[in-house]
Amino acid sequence: RKERYMQASRQNAHTLDGKRIVAAANIGSAADAQNSLAMGAEGAGLFRTEQMYLSRSSAPTEEEQFAVYKKVAKIYGHRRVIVRTLDIGGDKEVDYLGIAKESNPFLGCRAIRYCLRNEHVFLTQLRAILRASVYGSIAVMFPMISGLQELRRAKDMLQKAKEQLKALHLPFDESIPVGIMVEVPAAAIMSDILAKEVDFFSIGTNDLVQYTLAVDRGNETISYLYDYFDPAVIRLIQHTSQAAHTAGIPLGMCGAMAGDPLAVPLLVGLGLNELSMPAGSLPQVKYLMGRLSAGSCRRLTEQVMSCRTAQQVRLVLQDYQNKNK
Ligand code: PEP
Ligand code: MG
Repeated sequence: RKERYMQASRQNAHTLDGKRIVAAANIGSAADAQNSLAMGAEGAGLFRTEQMYLSRSSAPTEEEQFAVYKKVAKIYGHRRVIVRTLDIGGDKEVDYLGIAKESNPFLGCRAIRYCLRNEHVFLTQLRAILRASVYGSIAVMFPMISGLQELRRAKDMLQKAKEQLKALHLPFDESIPVGIMVEVPAAAIMSDILAKEVDFFSIGTNDLVQYTLAVDRGNETISYLYDYFDPAVIRLIQHTSQAAHTAGIPLGMCGAMAGDPLAVPLLVGLGLNELSMPAGSLPQVKYLMGRLSAGSCRRLTEQVMSCRTAQQVRLVLQDYQNKNK
């Protein structure tokens, strides 16, 4: 079985009936990028750049960031690397960034909210990402977007970073794709509006579950309520998928759900174009995808959409898994 997994990992992921789905890796460093290739990564669907800020006592400079992004871009070559801008705050604390103590940090000055208040930090990172974009296939992604105003402000900052580089005659990819994480329920609900102003979406189920069900993702006491198979979450994913397809932009997923073999047939049926996961999950998920037919996944999805509870959804998915063993 392991041999078959590894064999599948060496090919581009597609279903039995030929629907192409990109199987990408979640990474946090150049070392992760390198390791992911051996596991069959077809790109990086999520580069968590905050890891670079977490392991030190002052912010990484533009040159330091540029060196890392450039290295990662070169490792993947023509394969797409989605660089997510700083997702700090929430449970990820960084002393030197001066985030005030908040009583509800997950609902506070987190991620894009922090960056829009701290233009210097944001512009430094955006310039580094832009400069690396000439060494591979880089896209930029904003985390925690909760509405159109916020998205437009973030895009304005990207424009400002481009102008700064132009003034310095530094090269970058003028048409670098811009996407957002759909991980706040408001973004999923407004996805038809947001889709018109971005090049791609990536659903972050880790936060989408937390905010949709009002369940802290790190709280053990209530972890029994934390479930990406909850119909409320699945409906938001479906709504987002319809919006993405209507607007003609690709839809990815980079939360933990994307690497769960039980979820994969449902995600294929829901029309996901890219699944990004820890590299270790890639061989099994790619093998599984090669045995699925997109048509039967769509029928499965119809069945799932009529479920009323997460337990029902699990039963339907387990039944499908057993039948297709
Ligand atoms: C997510 O929220 O699903 C996600 C991928 O981002 P993170 O886990 O880094 O918050
Ligand atoms: Mg998140």
